[in-house]
Amino acid sequence: SSRWARALAIVRELEEKCGTPETKLLQVADAMTVEMHAGLASEGGSKLKMLISYVDNLPTGDEEGVYYALDLGGTNFRVLRVELGGKTGGIVSQEFAEASIPPELMVGTSDALFDYIAAELAKFITEEEEKYHPPPGRQRELGFTFSFPVMQTSINSGTLIRWTKGFSIDDTVGNDVVAELTKAMHRQGVDVNVTALVNDTIGTLAGGRFSNKDVAIAVIMGTGTNAAYVERAQAIPKWHGPLPKSGEMVINMEWGNFKSSHLPITDYDHALDAESLNPGEQVFEKLTSGMYLGEILRRVLLRMAEEAAFFGDEVPPRLNTPFVLRTPDMSAMHHDTSADLRVVSSKLKDIFEVSNTSLKTRRLVVELCNIITTRGARLAAAGILGVLKKMGRDSATGGVVEKTVIAMDGGLYEHYAEYRNCLENTVIKLLGGGNSSSNISFEHSNDGSGIGAALLAASHSHYL
Ligand code: ADP
Ligand code: MG
Repeated sequence: SSRWARALAIVRELEEKCGTPETKLLQVADAMTVEMHAGLASEGGSKLKMLISYVDNLPTGDEEGVYYALDLGGTNFRVLRVELGGKTGGIVSQEFAEASIPPELMVGTSDALFDYIAAELAKFITEEEEKYHPPPGRQRELGFTFSFPVMQTSINSGTLIRWTKGFSIDDTVGNDVVAELTKAMHRQGVDVNVTALVNDTIGTLAGGRFSNKDVAIAVIMGTGTNAAYVERAQAIPKWHGPLPKSGEMVINMEWGNFKSSHLPITDYDHALDAESLNPGEQVFEKLTSGMYLGEILRRVLLRMAEEAAFFGDEVPPRLNTPFVLRTPDMSAMHHDTSADLRVVSSKLKDIFEVSNTSLKTRRLVVELCNIITTRGARLAAAGILGVLKKMGRDSATGGVVEKTVIAMDGGLYEHYAEYRNCLENTVIKLLGGGNSSSNISFEHSNDGSGIGAALLAASHSHYL
């Protein structure tokens, strides 16, 4: 029928506009490398902030004692305690508590958000075993993983540049987030010293390095996306401080804000951006990360419903609600292996109240999942290639085989197998699949960010 032909035309057009041939990915990778240089050259030199983390030493494995971490980065919030055994002891024990952030706190006041976090920490500490209590005169020490763009002013202070990922609390912007947390802890009667402020990429890099010495890059694909890597301090023109003894500095790229004319951007993406809390910002993140993939799919389905009666004569009202289609549901549909695509059928019913879809319709929905996810995963892969190029690790030089392990984390990477496989395969493919690609590997650093923050709290302890 002509309706079906119209629906197919919309899908084909999307496929074409989302196309990521290798030539384009190589251009994206090169643009990433160029922006990295620009962001390192001067403050404000690029959309990539290339933030200096003040982490000039990653964990060695010798860290010892009991340390805490708070991880605030998106949908969930975690409190963590790690017991480190020193040289040969590794991680002796760890324990965590998780809570989701009530949506109203994401757009409320700074005090309300930080009070909530401090109260969760208070609860965790109150409930813990006697043996973890610090000796008299000693404070507990904590690494704060705060995964939003922060202008770091020391290892344990930094001001919030802007919120992302659906948070919008004006009175935090421009303030020191460690001071905000410390004030809230006082209000909640918690006596804990924040000795390290990091974000999830730095934490993941630190946690990854603790378990594998070849880890040199960390990438998060979760609600949002970001990357961090180890840079030569000499290669950071905007750094005017003393050169660290290690000669190295970890850089928090804030690559979610990457933008390039080479990125394949559709009308759906433009509309999503315009209606977002941060229009014009986080362009790369809006193409690649978990907060947005399902929402892009919803927008395409809405257009198909409106212009091609894809779900029947009426446009299902639920299809109009932004963010009703979450990426985990998209992932479930994409991975549906049943012959009659019953997962797709039940998701469409549960989310959009659309029943009696034909198999043909469901197949097309799966195809849409694939188009949107493939674009995201391949662009993320191009970003990783850009980082490898900047580090000079994209090709085997002079026969020297330097291993590079990329520590990966985030719910999207962890749970969306099609996404993860596409990302990893594309990096290997872009590297040429030969010698240089065999030196690159991926490691899922499960909850590395929290452990990493605790490790950095340990290496920056005031009692050392
Ligand atoms: P955050 O990024 O908020 O710190 P996570 O790393 O746990 O937290 O990532 C959560 C995000 O991962 C969710 O917002 C969602 O987009 C994505 N995600 C979680 N589960 C799945 C899944 N099963 N399939 C696809 N994406 C998922
Ligand atoms: Mg996280």
